[in-house]
Amino acid sequence: MAKDRSGTTRRAFLATGALAFAAGCTSTNDSASTPTSTPTNSSTTTPVGTPGSTTTQTETQTPTPAAPQVSPEYLGSYIDSGEVVDDMSDLSEWSGEGTVRADEEARFHGDQSLYYENTGSVSLTRRFGYADPLDLSDKSLSFSAWFDEPKDAQPTFTVFAKAPDRHNRVRMEMSYTANKKAGWQRYDPSTTAIEGSPDLSNVTELRFAAYGGDHDFKFHLGDLRVHDKPEKGKVIFRFDDTHRQHYSDFYPILDDYGYPGIEAVVKQAVGNADRLTPSHLLEMRDAGWDLCHHTRYHDNIAEISEKTLRADIAEMNEFFDDLGAPEGKDYAIYTFGAYDGASMDVMADNFDLVFGGGGLGNYNLTNPMAVNSLGSDGDVDGAIELVDQAAEFRSLAVPFFHQEDPEEFQRLVDHVHDLEQAGKVDVINASDLHAYLY
Ligand SMILES: [Zn+2]
Repeated sequence: MAKDRSGTTRRAFLATGALAFAAGCTSTNDSASTPTSTPTNSSTTTPVGTPGSTTTQTETQTPTPAAPQVSPEYLGSYIDSGEVVDDMSDLSEWSGEGTVRADEEARFHGDQSLYYENTGSVSLTRRFGYADPLDLSDKSLSFSAWFDEPKDAQPTFTVFAKAPDRHNRVRMEMSYTANKKAGWQRYDPSTTAIEGSPDLSNVTELRFAAYGGDHDFKFHLGDLRVHDKPEKGKVIFRFDDTHRQHYSDFYPILDDYGYPGIEAVVKQAVGNADRLTPSHLLEMRDAGWDLCHHTRYHDNIAEISEKTLRADIAEMNEFFDDLGAPEGKDYAIYTFGAYDGASMDVMADNFDLVFGGGGLGNYNLTNPMAVNSLGSDGDVDGAIELVDQAAEFRSLAVPFFHQEDPEEFQRLVDHVHDLEQAGKVDVINASDLHAYLY
């Protein structure tokens, strides 16, 4: 269960008796305000504060300057890691088409954020210049953003890193997730393409770009950070919905190479015809697989009440306890890849890692409530492309399957094995990722 959730360093910094009082509110968010959600998040927090000081929710007793608070409240959790390369306190190196200005009301890292607004497209640039370029040669990027104006459309949002010019650059593509109503989130875009021969030690400019017809793009940026990349890419094999084939076909194929997988367990399906039985689950677990929550009835968690979601999680926890696989309580996989800010906040109270999102992700990620995965049913070529990218860009690939032709799946696993033998990827499970991040 929610152990030492993210933001520990920030927490330690804030730690006072006051924090212990307020820490129940949410996962990571530093805003010690609004104790909205339930106080499950245990926070064994450091009883640093002076005894009896629990009456205040401010950090005024600390001699250090008050830490910035995320506003509006962060939903979900984030890992407070990496090196901040821009906290948006000085926007003089930013420019773009449309509105680019400071907003002191919306904050992530410091006293203000960058607010951007434009119709039809996004073109927002952060110059680093030739004198003081950004070094991304062994680094991945993350940023905090608050995408507002929820719309159905999810245009691709791309970060271009000029290294050093527009003919030599990398692209980091991700979905523009405005319709999640998730407020501030951290994003971990991975490099998805290279143009020319970029020298990533010499990034002179980052440009944020998107195209969306007459879409009104409005968002805030709170910070930019860089993070160490792993030496090799990482691959997690993910399987959804407890299909029998995961045991009968995929598990032996993976086991030949000693590879684990992760399984999205739907309680109602367990033991049904063509589905996994409890003994299958235990055997796979014993072979290194991680079992993960995937709801009792395969509900869309964005469409059920908070109360129902919490009851669902409690029942699934009981299921894993009864099964003798309590570690299944640590991880979840979004059904339909669906979530919104409110449901993600509940998930963050209960889980350390939740898989969802789309495409390639970073291994050294900062948003553990949206670990990128890619639906690969009937598209082993797409899964192979994903793991090739993970190898090339030292990122995290999580292809996932419900059902697949075993020969096709074998082709993917053989390919991953070739990459592994070449020293380019490791196959890991959710526990490995967890141990790395927390
Ligand atoms: Zn599912």
